[in-house]
Amino acid sequence: MIDLEDTRQIVGARNVIDATTLRDRPQDFWINTPTQALGLVKPADTVELSAILALCHEHGQAVIFEGGRTNLVGATQSNSETLLISLERLNHIGAPDRKGMTIEVGAGAIVEAVQQRCAAEGLRFGLDFGARGSAMIGGALATNAGGFQALRYGVARDQVLGLECVLADGTVLSHLTPYTKDNTGYDLKHLFIGSEGTLGVITRAVLRLHPAPRSVNTALLAFESFDAVAETLGLMRRDLHGTLSSFEIMWAEFFHSNVDALLGGRSPIEGRYPYYILCESEGFDPEEDAALFERVVSQALETGLIADAVIATSSRQRSELWKIREDFEAEMLLFKTMVDFDVSLPVASMEAFVNEVQRRLDEEVPDNLGLHVLGHLGDGNLHVTTGVPTPQGKGKVRALVYALIAGYGGSISAEHGIGVAKRDYLHYSRTPAELATMRLLKGALDPKGILNPGKVI
Ligand SMILES: Cc1cc2nc3c(=O)[nH]c(=O)nc-3n(C[C@H](O)[C@H](O)[C@H](O)COP(=O)(O)OP(=O)(O)OC[C@H]3O[C@@H](n4cnc5c(N)ncnc54)[C@H](O)[C@@H]3O)c2cc1C
Repeated sequence: MIDLEDTRQIVGARNVIDATTLRDRPQDFWINTPTQALGLVKPADTVELSAILALCHEHGQAVIFEGGRTNLVGATQSNSETLLISLERLNHIGAPDRKGMTIEVGAGAIVEAVQQRCAAEGLRFGLDFGARGSAMIGGALATNAGGFQALRYGVARDQVLGLECVLADGTVLSHLTPYTKDNTGYDLKHLFIGSEGTLGVITRAVLRLHPAPRSVNTALLAFESFDAVAETLGLMRRDLHGTLSSFEIMWAEFFHSNVDALLGGRSPIEGRYPYYILCESEGFDPEEDAALFERVVSQALETGLIADAVIATSSRQRSELWKIREDFEAEMLLFKTMVDFDVSLPVASMEAFVNEVQRRLDEEVPDNLGLHVLGHLGDGNLHVTTGVPTPQGKGKVRALVYALIAGYGGSISAEHGIGVAKRDYLHYSRTPAELATMRLLKGALDPKGILNPGKVI
């Protein structure tokens, strides 16, 4: 183990927090137990970070990188022997390049701050998810976050043009290119995006931007059948002329639980339907876009594809609709000991998959506390959550659902990553040859195994 005093020489005493002080802080956004670590250092820039890593590499010191600590898979969990390295001081946000539609940011920049900086210049950063106010760019890239707008703009990986990283031994890999086309050998940035801090640390990125939309149209749709939901997705992708930006599904149990908790049971749509969709389009012609959106929704209502619909007529109403989709407090109270899944599978298999999960839970875990299903349907991504009376029951539910998702050829992690929570189930989605190649890469880039040990593989 290294001596914390040596890190103070590099980053300054006030940027090192000792183990005792750290115990006052919860481990992360979700785990309330005290942080156990050797200490936490906050380098100011790539040079200091590189020096810290060179020191740790020399001494075989295990490290964990921290962004906003909002990940859902225990990816920043530490023990008393690990050194935490926070990226929070690398929070530089450059001036957006309006001609090239790019922006250079530090890994510690908060996602929402980047969104706001771009919006002020009439530009859009195409990544958005619930933890936007705390998650950092480095963390979002390290987990390859998805979120609400992947349907339109892609996932975190798709936003990156250039990347700067530091390897385990302190070597700086800088390739901050601001253009789309660059076929100069291996595209190394993609190794670090989505690798959850196990292959190197991301320090800076050049991000791709888009023109900021001038119109947004939002609707809540109700459906009698899943087939109608899937058909409407295809129809809206085509008939909204490429402006569809979100298509979020909620099964009735989740939707009504939030309507009860947030709106005292007064649903924006009367009655009860098995499926609800929150959909949104973003365009550049407010009048035409609104008219087109209304026409597409009305036609689907007339043909009976959509059973009922509400189009938001104000930004307040739009926020209310999004709150039903984004709020998880009622779910957390209901499920107490939650077991949650973030899976991908073909849209055509989703209904059968969810019905099978429900049936198997009722048969094999009869004391389950219900089933909530929602997700980013346009990306083939479902979030499935249940609760069990005691933590001991979690393992059985996980084994059951992961085996089912493997049977459907799905992914055990659509957007949240692997961390420790899903590590033991990775083989359900990856072949032995793929896992061996991942280990080969890990061994080559981090031969002493000091980077986020025990995570991912
Ligand atoms: C309310 C809520 C809603 C969410 N909704 C979504 C959603 O819709 N879609 C989605 O994809 N995710 C969602 N998430 C999870 C999301 O993936 C994470 O919140 C975010 O991407 C992680 O960013 P962070 O800065 O908090 O990273 P952290 O949690 O701090 O770190 C995550 C991982 O990345 C590593 N890491 C952090 N910074 C770096 C770096 N600079 N270089 C290398 N490795 C690094 C860490 O070691 C860890 O392994 C949600 C989370 C919350 C709390």
